[in-house]
Amino acid sequence: MNGLDTTHDPALRSWVNSANDPASEFPIQNLPYGCFRRLGEDDEAWRLGVAIGDQVLDLRAALLAGLPVEPMLGTHTLNHFMLLGATRWHKTRQALSRALAAGSESQGALQACLVPRREVELTLPCSIGDYTDFYTGIHHATTVGKLFRPDNPLLPNYKWVPIGYHGRSSSIRTSGHAFHRPLGQTAGESGTPRFGPTQRLDYELELGVFVGSLNHLGEPRTMAQAEADWFGLVLLNDWSARDVQAWEYQPLGPFLAKNFATTISPWIVTRDALAPFRAPFVRPEGDPQPLPYLDSAANREHGALAITLEVWLQTPSMSEPHRLTRSNFRDAYWTVAQLLAHHSSNGCNLQPGDLLGSGTQSGPGEGEGGSLLELTHGGKQPIVLPNGESRVFLQDGDTVILRGAAEREGCRRIGFGECRATVLPARAFTAS
Ligand code: MN
Repeated sequence: MNGLDTTHDPALRSWVNSANDPASEFPIQNLPYGCFRRLGEDDEAWRLGVAIGDQVLDLRAALLAGLPVEPMLGTHTLNHFMLLGATRWHKTRQALSRALAAGSESQGALQACLVPRREVELTLPCSIGDYTDFYTGIHHATTVGKLFRPDNPLLPNYKWVPIGYHGRSSSIRTSGHAFHRPLGQTAGESGTPRFGPTQRLDYELELGVFVGSLNHLGEPRTMAQAEADWFGLVLLNDWSARDVQAWEYQPLGPFLAKNFATTISPWIVTRDALAPFRAPFVRPEGDPQPLPYLDSAANREHGALAITLEVWLQTPSMSEPHRLTRSNFRDAYWTVAQLLAHHSSNGCNLQPGDLLGSGTQSGPGEGEGGSLLELTHGGKQPIVLPNGESRVFLQDGDTVILRGAAEREGCRRIGFGECRATVLPARAFTAS
C-alpha cells in the first residue's frame, strides 16, 4: 500500500488521553484541519486547529509555543498551506504526529494550546473559490435515471465521462447551521408554473474533495499529478429542491434547485490520513475501461477509498436521530484523481480551496439510497420512522445529519465528525 508511515501505526497513542478512546473519531492517526474560535467569543479571531480526541490544538498558539510546522498554519485559512504541496503537507503531518504522540517532549509546551472541542465553533476551513458537483454514484444515477427513463436509466456518456456541473460556493456553510426552505418556480397543473416554497426538499449524501495544489490555466494535469493535488475530504450535503429541479433542469442543468445551501463537515480529513483505506479501482465486467487520460496503474491499484457513509434524520418530535442510509464511497464509479484529471483536462485551472462534490453516494441495495428521492421511489412510498411519523420529503424543523468514517481491519478507524443542518420554515414572500 502506498504512503503508509509511522503516523498510521494503529498502536500509536497520544498524550491527549481522549484521543486514545477507541470510540473517538479523532485519534492521533487522523489529525484533520479546521478553522475555529471559542464559542461566544465573537470578537476573537478565527484560527486554524487540528482535532485531537475531544480537544482542538490551536495552531497559532502552538507555533508561538515552538511547534515546528509551516508558519502559514498560524493564519485563519488553509489556502496558503494548501499551496505548499503534497511533500510539505506530509512533513507537517509527521511533525504534528510526533508532537502529539505519547512521550513527546512537546507535551509541556502544547498542553496550554488545547481548547475543548465542545467549547469552539467552526467555520469554513479555507476560502472556497469554485465549487463543482460531480455524479460518481452510479447506483444513484441509475435509480434516479429509472424514475425518468425506465428503459434507459443511464445515459450513454455516464461510463466514459465523470459527469459534473458548476455549483455555487457562496452558499456553502459548515455543520450546525439552519436555512430557510427555499422558494422557487415549479411546474403548475394548468401549464402556468407556480412560485412558492419547495414541496420536495431533499438531501444528497456526498463527499467533498478539497483541491490543494493548483494547475495553471491551459495546463491539464496527468493522473499522477492529480492524485498529488488533492488535499483532503469532508462530508457534503448537496440540498436539493426536487420540484424546482424537475422544472428548471433542462436544457442547462441544476441551478436554483441546488444553490440555496450546501453543508460540509468542518474538519478536512487529509489524503495522507486516508492512505490506509485505499482500495483498487475496478470496473464491473463488461463496462468500458477509462480513456488513457483517466487511467493509471496507481489508480487501478489503489485509486478508490473505503469510507462508510451514513444519513441520519432527526425530526422535531423524535427523541434521537434515526439512520436512513448506509453506503460506501468504494462503490463510486470514478476516483478522486479521475475527477481532478478530468476537470483540468481542457485546461481549466483548479485552485487551492476549490471544492468538488462526489455526487450522491447510494449503495447498490434496496434502502441504500443517498437521497429521499431514491428511498421514497420518487416521492411515491413514504418512509415510516420508528416513532410512527412518516416522510416523503423533508419537513420544517427536520435536521439531517451525515456521518462518515474510514475503517479497515488492522487500522485505526478515523471519522469525519458530523455534517448537520436544520430546515427552517420558508420566509414569507411578497411580490413588491
Ligand atoms: Mn449532488
